[in-house]
Amino acid sequence: MVDLYKLQDPTKQYPRPKFKRQPQNVPGLAKNMTPRPDHGEESYRGSGRLPNRKALVTGGDSGIGRAAAIAFAREGADVVINYLPSEEADAKEVIALIEKEGRKAFAIPGDISNEAFCKRLIAQAHKKLGGLDILALVAGKQHAVEKIANISTAQMEQTYRVNVFGLFWLCKAALPLMPPGGSIITTASIQATHPSSSLLDYAPTKAAILAFTRALARQVAEDGIRVNCVAPGPVWTPLQTSGGQPDKKIPAFGSETPMKRPGQPVEMAPLYVLLASQESSYVTGEIYGATGGLEIS
Ligand code: NAD
Ligand code: MG
Repeated sequence: MVDLYKLQDPTKQYPRPKFKRQPQNVPGLAKNMTPRPDHGEESYRGSGRLPNRKALVTGGDSGIGRAAAIAFAREGADVVINYLPSEEADAKEVIALIEKEGRKAFAIPGDISNEAFCKRLIAQAHKKLGGLDILALVAGKQHAVEKIANISTAQMEQTYRVNVFGLFWLCKAALPLMPPGGSIITTASIQATHPSSSLLDYAPTKAAILAFTRALARQVAEDGIRVNCVAPGPVWTPLQTSGGQPDKKIPAFGSETPMKRPGQPVEMAPLYVLLASQESSYVTGEIYGATGGLEIS
């Protein structure tokens, strides 16, 4: 287990390329990855920063969402996770980890590209938790295609539905239920400002998330709700090994960063915790990068 709290060289803290190719169907499962990603299962230590908060995390079964869900629970929050039904195996592990902290954990699987489901998800999460203070929007769709000629209209539309429309529907339903002090955290990407040629649909959705975050933050500041964004660089998650990258790029994944390795999901978690907590009370409309040195701006 990596000791996250020990002074050490961050470039050597986690595995570096080369990785072995390990294609999976979409959505991939974290449990099938080698090396196993660090979502903080053993490594993240809480310190009471989110006492009795009520949080919904989309994409909470795996990757960055799982790391946020575990960290939120360790900081004292009850957590609902949303994910796709085929990800039940990953989701079960997260539910067990949250319950182990003595916090309440609820699973609400379903497809956020569907407006009616987004409304149901927010209503059910609010009911199960007895409130809604934190909305961490981490779910996303990424499928690399090398040439524009091979991107179907259906893929273009679905990437926007999951990454942008879902965000809109979930925020629209949640805001009337959130109290002053509530926090919405979106998830963009280094792709928003440094797009890869094979992510012609995905990269613009992440740029849209930056603008959406800033606009919504300005709109709801006077209600005491903060809206911020985490923008990761390359992170070792099933999104990438299930077609987010062309398979041939997996062995060198993360080598393009100044740190020469991908990030691990747990390395994103402190940003979600900070932005969710009252400690960041004067922070809204901001984009926080964690990119191994690629720089979001
Ligand atoms: P991940 O595959 O572990 O998580 C993505 C999750 O999105 C899945 O677990 C799934 O539950 C959810 N999802 C996808 N389609 C959905 C749908 N239609 N309905 C409901 N849920 C759906 O991968 P991750 O890398 O942790 O991705 C989390 C977020 O981080 C995404 O928004 C992604 O764009 C962003 N991101 C990832 C990286 C990276 O390198 N891994 C870099 C920048 C940004
Ligand atoms: Mg998943």
